[in-house]
Amino acid sequence: MDVGYDTAYLHRAAPLVAQDGRISFLGDDPDARALAGPGTTVVDLRGAVVTAGLTDGHLHPASGAERTMAASGLTGGHAMDANGDSLAVYAALEAAGALSLRLRIAPWCRPEADDAAVADLVRLQGTGGGLWQVAGVKLFMDGTIDNGTAWLETPDCHGESAHAYGPDPQRYTEVVGTLHRAGVPTATHAIGDAAVRHVLDTVEKAQAVDAGGVPVAVRHRVEHIETVPDDTVRRFVSLGVAASMQPTHCCEFTRADHTDNWSRRLGEERAGRAFRCRDLWDAGARVVLGSDWPIAPYSPLKVMAGARHRRPADLSLPPHGPAQALTPLQALQGMTLNAAWAAGEGEEVRAGRVAVGYRADLTVLADDPLAVADTDLAALPVLLTVVGGRVTHREAGV
Ligand SMILES: [Zn+2]
Repeated sequence: MDVGYDTAYLHRAAPLVAQDGRISFLGDDPDARALAGPGTTVVDLRGAVVTAGLTDGHLHPASGAERTMAASGLTGGHAMDANGDSLAVYAALEAAGALSLRLRIAPWCRPEADDAAVADLVRLQGTGGGLWQVAGVKLFMDGTIDNGTAWLETPDCHGESAHAYGPDPQRYTEVVGTLHRAGVPTATHAIGDAAVRHVLDTVEKAQAVDAGGVPVAVRHRVEHIETVPDDTVRRFVSLGVAASMQPTHCCEFTRADHTDNWSRRLGEERAGRAFRCRDLWDAGARVVLGSDWPIAPYSPLKVMAGARHRRPADLSLPPHGPAQALTPLQALQGMTLNAAWAAGEGEEVRAGRVAVGYRADLTVLADDPLAVADTDLAALPVLLTVVGGRVTHREAGV
């Protein structure tokens, strides 16, 4: 074990034994070999680096992509919808041994959902199989800045993005209150400053109304958070709301010189507070990183790289808001421990670390992701991916 690293997140050449889906041993090589029985898979990683399994904090899975997702190093994802028969598809994939990602699924609460529909979403909670589980509900508070459907405190340069988009804000607050009292975590799409403020106001109200006099601890989260002022940043901390961010949206769809549509619509002041990952982090918020696939590529190394360099695909172009870049360790934590925290109460003591007793969800990389340059990280080879002790991807030659 190399004690020069933060051993909570990664190990260089760490002999590691997984049993019954959990890490049962971390230590010196001869000891690990002695634990190998006839049914043990022994993989000699020859100096590769093991990290806690990388989890995408926000994606929209489609069946068929799971295999290539495992090859990218992903061990899990927070699925932000469950449309049509997708729960049945997960069950069928798992029954066929073809589900290679651990999925936490937040079905969508439609804007027009009545009380009976909300009660149905509450009843769905906790259902699932070995690797997939319904946990939470996804809601929308606005659309996007690019098409003029975000909800901003003051309109964009075309006079658009001036209203909530989706549910009536009053109804949204009622629904989140109901879900909160039922102990159901919510994940709300909120991009504009007014949308994010309304979500935080709503969580504050929900927290103030206890269920039968008993305070309810529920981990709510906001998805996207593309432009917010300072006082909003601080409220994420005081309310304990997770900030779920997709750095590649900033990289791919905006530009440092603000000549892109997103920046032009917002104007200099609001474009200057774009995707404030670092301010949220430094204030003490739990920042969770994700891709929003298929809107952006799902490679977790690309997501972490984007959080660190904030540059577009052409890496010679300048970064957008370099002061908002995360450090290498922060980016890794955003896809490991923080993703586990945001997945629900108690998850962070079972997942997100390389430690004895934690789930054997692991990503093995050819080199140390904390030492690799920001602009090289996306190309770092993924040697092995393990979910619950089962190998889901193994590079040729490993
Ligand atoms: Zn999404």
